[in-house]
Amino acid sequence: MRKEVKKMLKRASIIDNHVHLSTYPKSRARIEELERSMTENRIDVAIALAAYFPRKTGSISNEQILSLTNGYDNIVVFGSLDAENHLQKGVSELERLLLEDQIVGIKLYPGYQFVYPNDQKLDEIYELAAKFEVPVMFHSGLAYKSSGGIRFSRPIYFDDVADKFPELRIVISHLGDPDIRQATAVAHKNPNVYLDFSGLVSNTTKNQGRSEKWKRKNEEYIVKTIADVFVDLMGTEKIIFGTDWPISSHKAYLSLVDSLEERLDLDSREKKQILSGNILKVLGVKK
Ligand SMILES: [Zn+2]
Repeated sequence: MRKEVKKMLKRASIIDNHVHLSTYPKSRARIEELERSMTENRIDVAIALAAYFPRKTGSISNEQILSLTNGYDNIVVFGSLDAENHLQKGVSELERLLLEDQIVGIKLYPGYQFVYPNDQKLDEIYELAAKFEVPVMFHSGLAYKSSGGIRFSRPIYFDDVADKFPELRIVISHLGDPDIRQATAVAHKNPNVYLDFSGLVSNTTKNQGRSEKWKRKNEEYIVKTIADVFVDLMGTEKIIFGTDWPISSHKAYLSLVDSLEERLDLDSREKKQILSGNILKVLGVKK
């Protein structure tokens, strides 16, 4: 990691570990919009994720996301690849980007790519990440539309990866929803596994077209569910703040953290772990 990036990360109080960007001029995932939302909500740093979706729209390549974020000092990038169709090409590209210090982690999308996380052919990705001491973040749980295969993104498969690569730091995104207890068990068992609770409130795909009443009820249910994860894990050491912006808004997520704080009597140290401390640990940045 570049020295100035490390310095910038160390100063951050709130890090959003999970945002998406688009190159389309009319998309709501424009980088100017992200910057505006970050300023408005005092998000210091965002991790933008490259995405290869061979079965649906919404991809953004490593090259595209790097050129888009170039010059934005408060945005760092996780690279990705199409592990289903172009594994070798992707691995070589990620290796070059890691050598050039252009990315600080790798994001994989089981469920949107029909490959099981514990498929041996992905081992070289994990070996690469371990060699460069960068984390691997996984999409997990629900994968929308007929193009998504939930069976590939069940949290249980991350257990094999965590066990085989104990030095590799792993983030399971979206708490494995709906298999949340399973994700919690994997995080509990493996010292190198963390969870992020991104993409579960506000404009989620699940919420779309639903009435205000059910959106509110669903939101209450999600707050309770996330709070239960903390209770199940008996602490705040393993859970990371992330939004899935622009799918979920920064505002909704900060108010979610406030609700969690109240429900769980979080002290300032615990809140800090959630908002920045845990992701810094995952990124290998010591405060
Ligand atoms: Zn996402």
